[in-house]
Amino acid sequence: MSNKSIAFAADRMLGRLAKWLRILGYDVIYGRHLSGHGLIRAARADGRLILTRDRSLARKQPPPFLFIDSNDYIEQLRQVLRAGDLSPGAGLFSRCLVCNGELQPRSKESVAELVPPYVFATQERFSWCSRCQRLYWPATHQKKMLEALGKMAVTR
Ligand SMILES: [Zn+2]
Repeated sequence: MSNKSIAFAADRMLGRLAKWLRILGYDVIYGRHLSGHGLIRAARADGRLILTRDRSLARKQPPPFLFIDSNDYIEQLRQVLRAGDLSPGAGLFSRCLVCNGELQPRSKESVAELVPPYVFATQERFSWCSRCQRLYWPATHQKKMLEALGKMAVTR
């Protein structure tokens, strides 16, 4: 399964899992409205695989779903990657963590007015979410996320 061919709908109890899947570049919808029938409807609309901790969901005739066993987000992430036979890494930092939009590269010149002077002076690569207008650059938070992923031992 490639990163492009799978999309997820995470139930509202799985916010941390959703965030880490987005860090790895996977398409994940997540929000307070995503539980029970709302989750089923949203997953069906886009052909998404449901990720859920809700045991009662199975009785609601859902589309394909993966029941998440653990309460721990690292274990949850491992379970999803294992179940989908996914190789994370290629899509790392390619998706907006806030709205799930795909990021596009932006030239340094084009962000001069948009970022703090220190950031402009010290960063060379920028990307942009056209959906929610957020700018991203590989600052310390990405380094911390990479370190965290290394500790989780989920990237190969
Ligand atoms: Zn966004």
